[in-house]
Amino acid sequence: MTSVPLLDLKAQFAEIRGEVMPLIEEVCAGQHFILGEHVRRLESELAAYTGCGFGIGVSSGTDALQLALMALHIGAGDEVITSSFTFFATAGTIARVGARPIFCDIAPDTYNLSPAAVREFIERRCVVESGRLRNRVTGGRVVALMPVHLYGQCADMGPLMEIAHSYDLRVIEDAAQAIGSEYLNGARAGSIGDVGCFSFFPSKNLGAFGDAGLCTANDEDLAEHLRVMRVHGGKPKYYHAFIGGNFRIDELQAAVLRVKLKYLDGWTDGRRRNAAHYDAAFAAAGFAGRVAAPRAVPGYRHIYNQYVVRATDRDGLRKFLAERSIGTEIYYPVPLHLQECFAYLGHRPGDFPESERAAAESLALPVYPELERAQLDHVIESIAAFYA
Ligand SMILES: *Cc1c(COP(=O)(O)O)cnc(C)c1O
Repeated sequence: MTSVPLLDLKAQFAEIRGEVMPLIEEVCAGQHFILGEHVRRLESELAAYTGCGFGIGVSSGTDALQLALMALHIGAGDEVITSSFTFFATAGTIARVGARPIFCDIAPDTYNLSPAAVREFIERRCVVESGRLRNRVTGGRVVALMPVHLYGQCADMGPLMEIAHSYDLRVIEDAAQAIGSEYLNGARAGSIGDVGCFSFFPSKNLGAFGDAGLCTANDEDLAEHLRVMRVHGGKPKYYHAFIGGNFRIDELQAAVLRVKLKYLDGWTDGRRRNAAHYDAAFAAAGFAGRVAAPRAVPGYRHIYNQYVVRATDRDGLRKFLAERSIGTEIYYPVPLHLQECFAYLGHRPGDFPESERAAAESLALPVYPELERAQLDHVIESIAAFYA
């Protein structure tokens, strides 16, 4: 029987092996492993690719978020508004710098942070004191927004940036799943807010051979501060006006990523083609409304890090597909406001109904570019068989 893994990185490696292995050999021969020439070049290539002034290579997507928060001096007494339906690191890093994550619900059609929900939080729970926002309930300073471009599609950045400008909030884009994704008018993920944060975890569209990440910025002083905070805040070396950390990226990872970056647009096209194939098949089959294709907002460029459907009896479907050797995943089964570690925030089930519904109904299907037509059709036919 045709088997369809959720992701097949071996197929991708076979394509680039001949280019990557000599570079790895070269880096090993040079024995310069930290912040070398490949890192510098990767940073400028990715700055150009994302439409940003500056790129700062870091050790992971999580560390990109952590570094961004630290470089923007966000810490104890501060609050950061983010989505309750995202990967843990988004809110985990906010809490780790000593700030309070403020969760808001998502827009049900895109799974991204709802500007209306953010506005409602501000209007109901906050006061403006000398131009700055204060949370009336906790007394905390609301200082930043951290929207997430979930599954590879941009959050609705226009209204979010308007809110940010009205209340002098910094904006950190969690673009971990969204390299090359575009908002309206071609504005790329990571270029719209103050700092863009990317992950090169192997399963992301641009994946390293291990952990790696990137911060982007347009402001030169902020970019320089990110660079300094990446190496413990020392400038010059061993002189510390600030406490940073070790957020460095490996030269080996940078070398691998530079090779892969040349293929990225082709791979993205493949993902978009596969998504279009599913879209058309699901529209034709109808499935009596029991499976809904993801919404790609017109005018955006969705890069489909994940192709996520909403499904009736999602868990039954997932089990059925597994029996037919089709890999799927639930991103994410527990919305962050209901995670045990965030119990101190005092949320209850029902607080963010769209996030909770998404956690119960969404299912990621295989969409990686090397998928063959027979594999796509096996997925489509199996879904049809389940609902028949
Ligand atoms: C992958 C991911 C991260 C974390 O990136 P790592 O490189 O795994 O640390 C953060 N946010 C989102 C939305 C992600 O998908």
